[in-house]
Order: sequence, then structure tokens, then C-alpha cells
Amino acid sequence: MSAPGRLTIVGGGLAGSLLALELVERGLPVTLVDAADATATALSYGGVASWAGPPGRLGSLLRQAPERWRRLQGRHGPLGWRGCGLRLHGGGWGSSLLRPPFAQVDSSVLMAALPRVLVAAGVELRRARVLAPPRPVAGGWQLELEPGGPLLAEQVVLAAGAGCRSLAPALPDRLLASWAGVLALPVRPGLSPRFASPWWRHAAGRRIVQPRHWQRPELEGAAAGLQEERWIVDAGCAPWGEGLLLGQISLVRPGLDSGVPPETAAMEGHLRQGLAGLDPLLAALPGPYRQVPVAFCTDGLPLVGPLPGAAGLWVFNGFGGAFAQVPVLAPLLADVIAGVADGASLARLGVLAG
Ligand SMILES: Cc1cc2nc3c(=O)[nH]c(=O)nc-3n(C[C@H](O)[C@H](O)[C@H](O)COP(=O)(O)OP(=O)(O)OC[C@H]3O[C@@H](n4cnc5c(N)ncnc54)[C@H](O)[C@@H]3O)c2cc1C
Repeated sequence: MSAPGRLTIVGGGLAGSLLALELVERGLPVTLVDAADATATALSYGGVASWAGPPGRLGSLLRQAPERWRRLQGRHGPLGWRGCGLRLHGGGWGSSLLRPPFAQVDSSVLMAALPRVLVAAGVELRRARVLAPPRPVAGGWQLELEPGGPLLAEQVVLAAGAGCRSLAPALPDRLLASWAGVLALPVRPGLSPRFASPWWRHAAGRRIVQPRHWQRPELEGAAAGLQEERWIVDAGCAPWGEGLLLGQISLVRPGLDSGVPPETAAMEGHLRQGLAGLDPLLAALPGPYRQVPVAFCTDGLPLVGPLPGAAGLWVFNGFGGAFAQVPVLAPLLADVIAGVADGASLARLGVLAG
């Protein structure tokens, strides 16, 4: 069994990784345990929608997100953050090219950089799955790792994306998970300019393309009342390293559990059909199709803070617009965990689990 004293974060996607960096900066020894599943972060468009938060204090706070990313890159080196154009479709051509300050974190660059950045910052990385909810023991919490066996930690943060529900079944019902799918092209295929569509040119120009009327937030808001599974396609694309993400299809099922992965051939078919409505050229690109579970909260407010009645157990999960929310919320949670702030800052934002 490992020596106690360290803080363990479960989940090495965007949330767990940025929180780990904040905690080591405050002098806490951190172990980050990650199962190396397909993460939502790795397939994300990475759009930093700092203007699109929920109304109220959290929405205002999100305006700091671009500055947080600038600071993170200043401290840790390139993480994929860059200004980029955003092209909205579905409302005519007149006014819909938004130029920087819209920004993207290229998720392919971020995922490639994170292991080196985390190790350089002093985070201990462990490749393992946490098999069951943390068990209270004298001096903290015991986690059962596969491989690795028991791990004792004084404090544990659950930042495992859609994996959080099984690690803390009593999390509030507003935390759910969807399945999201994209065509993930490792290389942008060449296309003669003569045949290129306007949308292809935006993709080649490394701009994000999105519908003006984004259906995913609406689906997430309606998720709690669903009687049967529902899917929608928000046709668009985003640069992804040397490649391109074409998406996205989102599927939500009734109940708290996202269930087994949906049938990929059907999901890919629906996605390509939706993309064809935007641009048949993009819809015919080869893929492969990939899908991941994505945690979200039905009211758009993530879960950030202590778990009630479980001293030393924390949650950092369920983001809506994670690339704007996580970089501003990670420092606040790190301050509370490190004992340099009380939980009032989180309570004011309405993000506590209790
Ligand atoms: C196609 C697509 C487009 C998106 N576009 C945007 C966008 O433009 N802007 C935006 O802000 N958001 C976007 N999102 C959403 C955003 O990517 C996610 O909300 C965010 O990345 C979630 O990060 P996370 O760290 O909470 O979870 P994840 O990235 O899913 O990471 C969770 C980690 O926990 C690990 N884990 C799970 N269970 C266990 C366990 N039991 N033991 C150990 N490890 C475990 C997994 O291996 C994984 O690495 C998009 C998502 C998708 C799929």
C-alpha cells in the first residue's frame, strides 16, 4: 500500500489535468490516476466559449478563460491554445464569420503535451483504473486500482468525466452523460481548390464551423425528462492537429447511466447524413468514426467542490463548455482544497454538489 499524505485525482482529461497543475503549484503532492480510456477531451473541438456560460456569476467568470489559457501556456509551454475564426452556418452568409478573439485549444496538441507538462510540474502519473467508489479508512480514502491494488490517499478528487457516476453513485441527478461522435481525420485530405466548397475552405483555413443554432445544449437541458433515447447532429468541423474533426452527433438516453456504447454504424450513418445537409464533400470524407461518453449537468452548472458528508472527497465534473469553465474553476477549487480559501467562492457560483 502506498504511503498516505498525497492527494489523488481520478481522471486525466482536461479537468483532472488542469486541477493537478493548480494543486502542485500550491505545494500539494499530487498523484493522478487515469485509466487511459478514450477521453472526451481528446476528441473535443476545444472551442473556448468564454461568452456562452450560464447566466449569473459563473457566466461572468468565464470571460477570464482566454487569459487563463494564455497564462497556462506561458508557464507550461504550448498547450494548443490559439486564436481562431469561427464560422456559423444556418443563418445566411452575411455576418457569420467571427474572427479572433474566439479561441480554440487544439485537443490533439493538448493531449500530446499533457503527460510531459504534468511530470515536469511534479505530478505523479499512474496508468490504472479505479475499480470502485473510494472507501473511507483511517487517515483518508482507499482506492482499489487495476493494476496496482490498494492506494491510500488523504484526499481524493473525482475528475473522471463520464466515469464519475460509478465512483460516486450518490452524485446529484443533474449529472448525466451523453455519447458524442465525430469523424476524426488524422490528416486533412487534399482537395483541388476547383472542387472545394466554402465549408471545406473554412476547414482548410483552420477555422471552427458550427451551427448558429447549436442543438446540444437544448438536448442536455431536456435530458432529465427523456422517455426514450434521442440523438441530434450539430454539423460542423474543427482543426485537430494535422487533421480534422467532423461532427458532431450527440445521443442521450433516459436515466442516470449513459449505458453501453451506441451502435457505431448507425451513429456514423446519422452523422454523415447530418453533415451532408451542410456539405456533401465533408460528409464523404473517410473518417474513422469515433465516439466517447461526455458528462454534463442538465442546468449547465458543473459540480465543483466537496462531496457532502465525505470529508476529503471532492468532485470536479459535469462541465458545459469545459474549455472555458475548467481553466477558471480549477484555481478556485485548488484554493479551497489547499485551505487558502473557504468554499464560499464555489457556493456563490452555484456549483457545489450539496
Ligand atoms: C466531439 C466533441 C466536441 C466538443 N467540443 C467542445 C468545445 O468546443 N468546447 C468545450 O468547452 N467542450 C467541448 N466538448 C466537451 C469537452 O470536451 C468535455 O466536457 C471535457 O473534455 C471533459 O473533460 P473531463 O476531464 O471532465 O473528462 P474526460 O476528458 O472524459 O476525461 C475523463 C478521464 O477519466 C478517466 N477515467 C474515467 N473513469 C476512470 C476510472 N474509474 N479510473 C481511472 N480513470 C478513469 C478516463 O480515462 C479519462 O481520461 C466536446 C466534446 C466532444 C466529444
